[in-house]
Amino acid sequence: MIPFIDIHTHNSQTSKGVVSVVNCDDGVVPDIWCSIGVHPWQSIQASSDADFVDKSMKGLESKCVLPQVLFIGETGLDANRGADMETQKVLFLRHVALSEKLKKPLIIHCVKAIEDIVAIHKQQHPTQRWLIHGFRKKAILASQLLHQDIELSFGPFFDADAMKLAYESNALWLETDDSGESIVDVYQKAAELLSISVDELKLNIYQRAVLLSSSFRLE
Ligand SMILES: [Zn+2]
Repeated sequence: MIPFIDIHTHNSQTSKGVVSVVNCDDGVVPDIWCSIGVHPWQSIQASSDADFVDKSMKGLESKCVLPQVLFIGETGLDANRGADMETQKVLFLRHVALSEKLKKPLIIHCVKAIEDIVAIHKQQHPTQRWLIHGFRKKAILASQLLHQDIELSFGPFFDADAMKLAYESNALWLETDDSGESIVDVYQKAAELLSISVDELKLNIYQRAVLLSSSFRLE
């Protein structure tokens, strides 16, 4: 049976028919599909510790090689929180390098930094997919990212036109993040908006998920 895929969540509870990629918030890799990285908010520690980037990246690679780690991240840029943008970019680029080295896609947290993400993508030419999670912005910003081949993940709150554009670009993902909502409800809401059946949407996402990481095939 084709599962519902929750591409980014902080909820580690499992439910039948759902495959979740759980973000490791405490730095401990659980025995389930997950993502791990240094969140841009954590970069604030760099203001009191000059070695923060090196130190925090040091133990990360050995965790990221584990087979249950499907994505590197969440990582990214946040103009509202964390260290200054230059420090955040240094930290983000280290995750990009790790993603390329380990051939695992990136899950990205991006607040008011879409242009920076696009510019870095252009400059780096990554071979791995980049997914911006929790996308709530308008279609005009979505199109900038999609045009650069960056994919978008939507939670319970989203802009309808942006979601339609991501679907048309074959780059739509769904997630619950920390909302506490059910991924089934997110799929239902999205399918309704896209005027397709939930089954069609499940198949669309699943087919791209197995290309992203063959691990999804095991489910
Ligand atoms: Zn998150």
